[in-house]
Amino acid sequence: MFARNRWMLAVQILGVVVCLALAAPAHAKDKVNIVTTISDLASLAQEVGGDRVEVEAIARGYQDPHYVEAKPSFLLKLRRADLLVVVGLQLEIGWLPPLITQCGNPRVQVNAPGYLDVSQFAEILEIPKGQITRAMGDVHPLGNPHYWLDPENGRRIAKGIEVKLAQMRPQDAAYFAERFESFSQRLTEAEKRWEQQVQPYRGRMVVTYHNSWPNFAWRFGLNVVGYVEPRPGIPPSPGHIFELIQFMKQKNIKLILVEPYFDLKTPNSVARQTGGKVVVLLPSVGGEKEVTDYFKLFDYDIQLLVKAFQETR
Ligand SMILES: [Zn+2]
Repeated sequence: MFARNRWMLAVQILGVVVCLALAAPAHAKDKVNIVTTISDLASLAQEVGGDRVEVEAIARGYQDPHYVEAKPSFLLKLRRADLLVVVGLQLEIGWLPPLITQCGNPRVQVNAPGYLDVSQFAEILEIPKGQITRAMGDVHPLGNPHYWLDPENGRRIAKGIEVKLAQMRPQDAAYFAERFESFSQRLTEAEKRWEQQVQPYRGRMVVTYHNSWPNFAWRFGLNVVGYVEPRPGIPPSPGHIFELIQFMKQKNIKLILVEPYFDLKTPNSVARQTGGKVVVLLPSVGGEKEVTDYFKLFDYDIQLLVKAFQETR
């Protein structure tokens, strides 16, 4: 409770800071001001919106999107937004709800026209059946929220954003539709390239740190058979790591894929004991400097994976 009260106090102080800062000039009125929670959605919104939108993401691509530390600048961004685009499925539940409430912007409140949860457009994997308990892990109770890592979902999300933008700016609907078509065609071309690159390695077994990759694995033929975390959001325990090492040795699994925001100590130790290799794979645009858009994210990850597969047998 204490931590929560402290958090609420911090948010209230941020609120005061925002009120003081509101004298700042607004963005150009004719552009749709879009804020997204993660950088990947910002990249997709930019693809569709072109020069008729201003897009900013809250979380950086190298940050863990489940746990983002609130900053005064986030409230400022939300205060000015016409449209807030979120991943949903509770990915942002640990940090976004108080920001939405405190920003005081009626346009982006949950269920307001300027609030867009794009999970509704995507193919969602691992939707739990039956009763959900805490024992299943803390962070994926509604299905796996890392769905943007399948480019086909990227296409669906971009389409959803296009429809929303066309509703908000009917006079620019043809422009957004044309932008979406162009994006979709380039994505189809890129997918051919990516699928060709991974073709020789389809079905290879890998271990990942967090369960971030089911949609990526489904699209590109990876076989994710274990996790460094015992359950999503639960830190590795010695017993779990011992079992994981035995399992990897038994099945001759060599690759451990790690998101950039996790400590490499445990993965490195697992790699040493199994003769394996740690690969820092990026779940988001901006995870590395050169990964500046949605296409470059897959370019980067697939190149890294192919190299790692070539180096391990
Ligand atoms: Zn997750």
